[in-house]
Amino acid sequence: MISVKALAPGQGRQSTAIGYISGTAPPSHREPAAIDRTTTLETHRQAVAPALIAEVRALAARGWTPATGGNFSCRIDARHVAMTASGGDKGRIGTDHILVVDLDGQVVVGARRPSAETLLHTHLYRRYADVGAVLHTHSRAQTVASRLFEDAGAMRIEGYELIKAFEGQSTHETSIEIPVFPNNQHMPTLAGQVDARLDRGGTTPGYLIAGHGLYAWGCDLEQAHRHLEALDFLIDCELERLRLSRRGDGGTRA
Ligand SMILES: [Zn+2]
Repeated sequence: MISVKALAPGQGRQSTAIGYISGTAPPSHREPAAIDRTTTLETHRQAVAPALIAEVRALAARGWTPATGGNFSCRIDARHVAMTASGGDKGRIGTDHILVVDLDGQVVVGARRPSAETLLHTHLYRRYADVGAVLHTHSRAQTVASRLFEDAGAMRIEGYELIKAFEGQSTHETSIEIPVFPNNQHMPTLAGQVDARLDRGGTTPGYLIAGHGLYAWGCDLEQAHRHLEALDFLIDCELERLRLSRRGDGGTRA
């Protein structure tokens, strides 16, 4: 499990957050005026955009962002993240699709419309000071599993070597739980449900939204990618195991 601790909104690492984004130079001066801050954030947007765009395009190439779905972000500093704008073929996005939003979800840099799900990203950055990237995809396996396990409220997975892909897990001889939340277009309600479940602990750094897709996070883009890839693989394996079991080959029924 990712090593994180719950924080009050706005609380977080003030000086080291920029270190989450490799290749991003830290601010070299204080920010005396709003215009200087905007210029600084634009500089950071330009700096983080290539890595974020490469990540988004790679996930799009897997077919995990059908029909412009999915949204993606990485932390710039304690109060700002770079995030993909609403819409757009995720396999073709450029720097103009990357916005800078503050942790209240307001666009600070960029002209495009923010994603309706911006709050689900910013809520994770506010909650965990060491979250550096959040990835949200709509793969077929994620979407099917989210419907299949909606009533159960979670997907429990055990016995797979790849459980060790999650930060803090050192053995396959354990079980992990991927929460499943009902889909909701009212993001504050959804974020509140996520918070309540994360407060109880014992989950993976990711959750499913029913009929919708998967959110995964990590301390940087690389770790978030690993968590997302592991979750999708495990979900896909479990769906296939259940499918074969139902054909009567002696496996355990769901
Ligand atoms: Zn979505």
